Amino acid sequence: MPRARRRLVVVSNRGPYRVQSSGGRRRLVRAAGGLVAALDPVLRGRGGVWVSTGDGELGEALEEGGESLPYEIAQVRLPRAVREGFYEGVSNAMLWPILHSMPATVRMSGPAFDTYESANRAFCDALLSSTRAGDLIWIHDFHLMLMPAMVRQQRPKARIGWFCHIPWPSSDIFRILPWRRWLLEGLLGADLLGFHTDAYAQNFLRCVVDLVPDSQVDFSRMTVRCGRRTLRVVVAPIGVPLDAIQTMAADPQVSADMERIQKTVDHRRIILGVDRLDYTKGIPQRLLAFEQLLRSDRSARNRYVLVQIMVPSRTDVKAYADLKTNIDQLVGDINGRYASAGRIPIQYFYRNLPPAQLYAHYRAADVALVTPLRDGMNLVALEYVACRIHGGGVLVLSEFAGAAQYLQSALQVNPYDTHALAQSLKTALAMPQDKARARMNELRAEVHKLDVHRWADDYLEQLER
Ligand code: UDP
Repeated sequence: MPRARRRLVVVSNRGPYRVQSSGGRRRLVRAAGGLVAALDPVLRGRGGVWVSTGDGELGEALEEGGESLPYEIAQVRLPRAVREGFYEGVSNAMLWPILHSMPATVRMSGPAFDTYESANRAFCDALLSSTRAGDLIWIHDFHLMLMPAMVRQQRPKARIGWFCHIPWPSSDIFRILPWRRWLLEGLLGADLLGFHTDAYAQNFLRCVVDLVPDSQVDFSRMTVRCGRRTLRVVVAPIGVPLDAIQTMAADPQVSADMERIQKTVDHRRIILGVDRLDYTKGIPQRLLAFEQLLRSDRSARNRYVLVQIMVPSRTDVKAYADLKTNIDQLVGDINGRYASAGRIPIQYFYRNLPPAQLYAHYRAADVALVTPLRDGMNLVALEYVACRIHGGGVLVLSEFAGAAQYLQSALQVNPYDTHALAQSLKTALAMPQDKARARMNELRAEVHKLDVHRWADDYLEQLER
């Protein structure tokens, strides 16, 4: 338990609740995602404020529905042009590809950076007007990298944390961003900077050495001294809400759904992919690897099915729309060539499944193919393991997902290498039961250490110390 119970202020681009309308009535529902699952209970417990973007609908729903929230939500209103420049122009089009080490997909537009600064300033103003001096401030993710220094300027003694939910690239890649030094100096306003893996934390420190000359970095102690302040960098891998997942995965309805799924695919063995539509996820490469398996082994089409769940994301951005077209064509092409009567090799869902249905798929799958080209952590890998409550099942995991540092007993693979990926898939499918069980037990022990509630508690304890 944290000693001093300061109020907590959480800051993130997206807020913890959204408004759902049905039958003319509006009600509040908790947003999906690990961050909200982790911090909503903490804020309920100790009280505080969540600062995030909003459009007024939430306030109206609260008033008309007579509902109340257990903590305050401070909404940041951004003018449309600022919101678009900040969110699409900078966060998605520039920071996302650079931080994922995929510079070829970056689209630079100089003036958009003004909107990023304006948006960070608006978050800072909302924070200052809705919080008190002693509050503990925890800012989240790459949308808000300038904010720590902005808050520091107004509240020199504040306790400020920032967490990076995505990867941090090498200094060679990070320096592609024209405002690289500005971004780093923004982050150096914090007291504690958190990253998922050792590699990301070391990359960050190297960026500071290379690009912020008047700071002093200590790599072994993971500290940065700038002026009279010293800040700490910590490795704090996020996890999943283990108890909640395991309880839901064991629900009789989920078991029934699992059996229904297995029946639907005619009891072929299920290979599962679950991703948001994103070019970092390596979905085309995965489809090509599966195609290689079908091509090299004529009996494979009768024995295996690839179930690919793809969640719509950023659909109004051209790069994402193009990727969607590419994936649709690949799926159509592979199914067209390898289908036989009643047996379609790839079952493809383009939608967001509710957790219970997703967990039924995890339970039904013999193999999970989690093969992003780059991924901060990847929660799907952890959730698959968490849902294997009866053991067994094989996780094929990209070596470029943050989770690979922790899940050493997965079959790790280079997702760019389609041939190697197909080989890993064969190895996974051919793995003897006892071996698969032993590996899954090891993975489950690791995932137990990565509980999301512990992640939040540990980080806050370090921030408060
Ligand atoms: N997810 C979901 N419904 C789906 C597919 C995925 O709720 O149909 C969730 C999944 O449970 C996981 C998250 O989306 O918690 C994806 O997180 P991950 O870290 O794997 O990738 P991200 O989308 O954050 O890049």
